[in-house]
Amino acid sequence: MAFDLDMIKKVYDRYSTRIEAARKATGKPLTLTEKILYAHLSEGDVKAAYNRGVDYVDFAPDRVAMQDATAQMALLQFMQAGRPKVAVPSTVHCDHLIQAKVGATEDLHTAVDTNKEVYDFLASVSDKYGIGFWKAGAGIIHQVVLENYAFPGGMMIGTDSHTPNAGGLGMVAIGVGGADACDVMAGLPWELKFPKLLGVKLTGKLSGWTSAKDVILRVAGILTVKGGTGFIVEYFGEGAQSLSATGKGTICNMGAEIGATTSIFGYDEKAAAYLRGTERAEIADMADAVAQHLTGDAEVYANPEKYFDQVIEINLSELEPHVNGPFTPDLAWPLSKFATAVKENGWPAKLEVGLIGSCTNSSYEDITRAASIAKQATDKGLKAKAEYTVTPGSELVRYTVERDGYLDTFEQIGGVVLANACGPCIGQWARHTDDPTRKNSIITSFNRNFAKRQDGNPNTHAFVASPEIVTAFAIAGDLTFNPVTDTLTNEAGEQVKLDEPMGIELPVKGFAVEDAGYQAPAEDGSGVQVIVSPTSARLQLLDPFKPWEGTDITGLKLLIKAKGKCTTDHISMAGPWLKFRGHLDNISNNMLIGAINFFNNTADSVKNELTGEYGPVPATQRDYKAHGIGSIVVGDENYGEGSSREHAAMEPRHLGVRAILVKSFARIHETNLKKQGMLGITFADPADYDKILEDDTIDITGLTTFAPDKQLGITLHHADGTTESFPVNHTYNAQQIEWFKAGGALNIIRAQQGK
Ligand code: SF4
Repeated sequence: MAFDLDMIKKVYDRYSTRIEAARKATGKPLTLTEKILYAHLSEGDVKAAYNRGVDYVDFAPDRVAMQDATAQMALLQFMQAGRPKVAVPSTVHCDHLIQAKVGATEDLHTAVDTNKEVYDFLASVSDKYGIGFWKAGAGIIHQVVLENYAFPGGMMIGTDSHTPNAGGLGMVAIGVGGADACDVMAGLPWELKFPKLLGVKLTGKLSGWTSAKDVILRVAGILTVKGGTGFIVEYFGEGAQSLSATGKGTICNMGAEIGATTSIFGYDEKAAAYLRGTERAEIADMADAVAQHLTGDAEVYANPEKYFDQVIEINLSELEPHVNGPFTPDLAWPLSKFATAVKENGWPAKLEVGLIGSCTNSSYEDITRAASIAKQATDKGLKAKAEYTVTPGSELVRYTVERDGYLDTFEQIGGVVLANACGPCIGQWARHTDDPTRKNSIITSFNRNFAKRQDGNPNTHAFVASPEIVTAFAIAGDLTFNPVTDTLTNEAGEQVKLDEPMGIELPVKGFAVEDAGYQAPAEDGSGVQVIVSPTSARLQLLDPFKPWEGTDITGLKLLIKAKGKCTTDHISMAGPWLKFRGHLDNISNNMLIGAINFFNNTADSVKNELTGEYGPVPATQRDYKAHGIGSIVVGDENYGEGSSREHAAMEPRHLGVRAILVKSFARIHETNLKKQGMLGITFADPADYDKILEDDTIDITGLTTFAPDKQLGITLHHADGTTESFPVNHTYNAQQIEWFKAGGALNIIRAQQGK
């Protein structure tokens, strides 16, 4: 299925030299994480050791994966680069836009109909530029990547926060925004702060009701939702080697819930078995030949405290099944304490829906373990008391488990099989309820459980557990039930107990599929037309941004002086605006509508200096643009924190804002502004923020001699006729100044392609 053996061979061929050079440069044995990172430096040879948590380093990832919601803007931007093909193997996966309502077949038909123009665009742009396209129904990005593309020792980026799932097969796989994906596909290096290292030593062996999911539920409880920030989490120890590759994928997937950059396991027999089981024996053979490079050095694992920045240890033999929640994935309850927690906290004990599957937990092993519980229910005269849904992660898994009779098993207890897609995990769930104001409980085998995540209802208490625990709870219909100790009353009035789940790691008869849902791109895409209707409300081809005019920028109006927190959500809101992610002009109608105006403490109400009237931010800016007048946005500390979405930088650029002047930037947003050719500057003296008045006209000076480490200037023309000037800082390097002058990084790449 289009995995690229030549590319993998090239990666492995350079391993030995680069790892030896990295050992020399750092003067110590290496963790697996360091081996992979040093082997993927974009400058090639290892010249120096990097400071963990300090140095920004350019990398050259091997692959890019994109899901359909984020791929739209990534690919619209890529089209601007003027390249005939992507620089690295890349794939698009149609999984986020399918709503779960009735069941797999009908829901898929509806989605194909509703999202036709988006799917047609993604299919045609993939075909043209050499990108593998996984159509709607093929499966969820991370499961499909694990089955087809992940390989030990590789490095990939993906436009989705659960990209780290591929760490289960030993890949450094990191979630990014669309602009980063665009850069890597266009052949640019990808920058990351060299991560800190968190080691998790696993001893013992799982047994009974406990599964890989419980490892990460426990880790989330220990580290909390922020504890992994800035770290790559590396699992090791004899316990790690006892986990299946897909179980490891589950653990790495949910590393996103502790804020980790990514998580990873070393190459072992389980990884080799999974590669062979998914028809990638050639990769297993190649990995076997370099196996010593695909795990951390023995000395590192023998003395982890010496080589990791932080170490935690978990004994799998003592680990209990966990249930985490509600409302946050780090509220971790060992099963034996959960019933009491439900009662003491007054959470609704009646379980309304149990949901299994998703990218987190829909491997063959997961499905067979859950099915072993469902089968017992049928055999023992029980039916699921709660509603029960099953979301397969891919068509490969769905077809195989259907062939092997497991979908029937679920249906016999009342289970509904949903499309191979994100569905309820991302709120694409038309849940039917008689009373949405009632406090209610659901339990899922997904990864996130923030308020409203699954069904948009703030009254829903969502808990997270393994698929087998979810299945047991769905049968009981009661969150105070403990399947390890308690009995249930069956249809004959007898007390029956559920036995421990039994799973099968890989299908005995092998995986099978009729149509996996993959469309290979054209060999020569030059004649392929990219399909975008000019009247579309959801998609719009991008026009290149204009280059800098070559002079200082003067006469700017103040669009807004934002007060306090201004995240990328304040700058470009999500929710109902998601459907416009591929249409820059339409989504620009949400520009800065969440930011608080310093002068009236109100969101989305700013003074139009041309009319003196107060109005919404986007409309005011459109008025300035219509009059050919530029504007400036002023902000507070850490402006642009939050998600890496590039829309927050593109929208102001599109609507004619010329500069963002703040006390400080969140780094990713600052880089995004630079890439879009926008001027992002900071007050040299943060107190100068107070000098900005509502009716000011503003000049930016020093641009004709714009250079690294050289301050620019601001002149304020106040309404009373007085003026004030002060210096401002910037962090543009020589290359980034060229981006500014050219009107954006993509304009430069396109110009280079034309040469
Ligand atoms: Fe994200 Fe959920 Fe889809 Fe996984 S199943 S990719 S977590 S939305």
